[in-house]
Amino acid sequence: MAEEIPEFETPDYLKLTKERLQENEARQKVWQKRANPTSFDPNIHERARAARIEKDATEVLKILGGQFDSASDEVKGQILDAHRRERARLAEALATQGRFDEAAHVEPNELKTAHYQKLHDAVTKSDKDWCDCPRIERVGTGTVDNRQNLGNVFSIKHGREMTLVVCRKCLFYNVRELPRGMTPARETHKRR
Ligand SMILES: [Zn+2]
Repeated sequence: MAEEIPEFETPDYLKLTKERLQENEARQKVWQKRANPTSFDPNIHERARAARIEKDATEVLKILGGQFDSASDEVKGQILDAHRRERARLAEALATQGRFDEAAHVEPNELKTAHYQKLHDAVTKSDKDWCDCPRIERVGTGTVDNRQNLGNVFSIKHGREMTLVVCRKCLFYNVRELPRGMTPARETHKRR
């Protein structure tokens, strides 16, 4: 029966609480340096909130980990469920702060893990990288733009929110600067 319960291993992120908090503080300092005081960043509060959730979830995970060994088999199952939920909450909080690699590391769901890895990849690769698919294609009597904006993500590398862009044809991801003001800068309709 005991075999039905997956082995509980204390993940690295639980062992590193103190270091992680120090890392976090160091990161905040970097952000503060990079942040342009004249620009309004509406998501700064969201990231601050995510940092608090991160702290909280890390604490809960530590507690759950500590309760595991002495728990009955039935309770162990519940602890594992709670642990999974808490890891997902932590992953989301990390992703909100632009820490997609860490989010991928703690996220229990494989699809979401892959998504976080993709975001990490998109943010860290050179902004100039792009696929070879044609940007604009004729479809019937009209044209179709193969590049689609998928909303904004916070990039630690850039120190600000960036727009996540995907090629619809090959699913190549990258980020680019947010459109200025309310009207996105209109790109010239060049092929590539
Ligand atoms: Zn492409």
